[in-house]
Amino acid sequence: MSAACPVCRKADLNPVKLSYDLPAMGCMSCGGVLLSLILYSDWRERHPAELPATTRGEGAEPAAIEDTKNALLCPKCRGFMTKYRLRADASNVLDLCAHCDEVWFDRGEWSQVEDLALSGQLSRVFSERWQKDLRQAEVAQRAEQRYREQLGDDYDEMAKLRERLIGHPRAKEILAFLYTSQTVHR
Ligand SMILES: [Zn+2]
Ligand SMILES: [Zn+2]
Repeated sequence: MSAACPVCRKADLNPVKLSYDLPAMGCMSCGGVLLSLILYSDWRERHPAELPATTRGEGAEPAAIEDTKNALLCPKCRGFMTKYRLRADASNVLDLCAHCDEVWFDRGEWSQVEDLALSGQLSRVFSERWQKDLRQAEVAQRAEQRYREQLGDDYDEMAKLRERLIGHPRAKEILAFLYTSQTVHR
């Protein structure tokens, strides 16, 4: 079976091996990789729970991450692939064909998920739960950014104080005491 790269269109995908001989189909032209989640589960079951990461070895240059913004067509069924965010602090997306259970990684994206994949959690990225947690993390980050802007130079010091108050047995009393700075007129 020969399928064309969903990004380059003309170049064919060829068998490649990811970490620990995980079989996938790669494009020599753009460096993208198509991975079957079914083959992945199968491969995961044949390996021990603990696998050290391979792509971020010492001294290894982190691969530049490319990201395809436009919708991709699944190389197998030609249907549209769905985009999934990976982390709240990373803008790139992974493309999944839910029909074929095939994931497309642009160049460099595999190394971003390798830890997850090696611990058997790759499929979680495509779950409702993962995507919901990610959106919540994003909302929290935006709120924090607003505080950072409002507090300006005081932000770092106040963030430290807030950190101290988390779980502090006298947190309420301390907050009440600080509040007197706004109510007591000297
Ligand atoms: Zn390609
Ligand atoms: Zn498909």
